Amino acid sequence: MLYLRKTTSVFLITILMFVNCGSGMKVVASQIKKPLNIILMIGDGMGLAQISAASFLYGGLTLDQFLEIGLLRTSSGDDYITDSAAGATAYSTGEKTFNGAIGVGLDSLPRVTILELAEKNGLSSGLISTCSVTHATPGSFFGHRVNREMHVQIAEDFYKKGIDFVAGTGKPYFSIEKLKQDGYETYTGVSVPNWDKSKKQFWFYNDSIHPPKANERGNWLAEMTKAGIQHLSQNKKGFFLMVEGSQIDWGGHDTDFNYTVSELKDFDLAIQVALEFAKKDGNTLILVTADHETGGLSLDAGTLNPRSIQHHYSSTHHSGIMVPVYAFGPGASFFKGTHENTEVFRQMKMLLGL
Ligand code: MG
Ligand code: ZN
Repeated sequence: MLYLRKTTSVFLITILMFVNCGSGMKVVASQIKKPLNIILMIGDGMGLAQISAASFLYGGLTLDQFLEIGLLRTSSGDDYITDSAAGATAYSTGEKTFNGAIGVGLDSLPRVTILELAEKNGLSSGLISTCSVTHATPGSFFGHRVNREMHVQIAEDFYKKGIDFVAGTGKPYFSIEKLKQDGYETYTGVSVPNWDKSKKQFWFYNDSIHPPKANERGNWLAEMTKAGIQHLSQNKKGFFLMVEGSQIDWGGHDTDFNYTVSELKDFDLAIQVALEFAKKDGNTLILVTADHETGGLSLDAGTLNPRSIQHHYSSTHHSGIMVPVYAFGPGASFFKGTHENTEVFRQMKMLLGL
């Protein structure tokens, strides 16, 4: 059993471990290093079958390098099978809520998110996704709405939050004028612009609701992740960054295997950028997980040379199978074992001292 307590130290937390040593329970106190920064990476719809397939077909993934791995139960507050809104809200607020809910609890009232807590405590924050910033996963980190389809209202919740770096789509839902009033530099385009590091940044991939699929995006997600980390790491108090591989899920809904694995590979390139930074930095915790699995994907047969997989999807929706959580950096060991998805919020909050 673990008991965690914040100390006055910025960098350390004291752990009181109740260890059964044969002659009864003994309390062991030890201190572990705390992360200054957390990068939470969510592969939407990324289950073990999706990871297994991409790892096999691409001859390995960066994800395979992680040593601290746990499992998360994904049920929402009103259904065995979660949707992405309730799944992201569990990570952003630590509460199981109803499917479709964005940053609100079962009573439909707003809950404070990990990103809002980070901002309140002087950390920097960022959101990067390969879909609209108002979509369920990123939206649940700043929005507070009872229905995920309320994109205009979710965008309204964005202003005045102080979020420092954003890259994604959904431009039609946002007011460029309001973003400017809010102190943002905005940019629309696929490349990394020359940007003013002292200003908040909001970068749209294009003028549409969503960007194209991975095979047309180039290395956009990894490049945005690199720029986002560069921007946020200016804050010596630390940062919270959420990066989403949004379209792994859409490959599942479309039962399009190539779409699924190419999106996963694209997401893995962003993971590589984050991991390289964390290895050098030493103060960054990276968590890679999913909100749920999509498609009930099963890998039925295959060949080793050339590498090929025969698969089938058991549905066009989400499944209830547990999802992995991969962790690297200070605090990574807390994510080992089997947990509810809400535990991720509690551990991130504790580790950042929020
Ligand atoms: Mg999503
Ligand atoms: Zn989905």
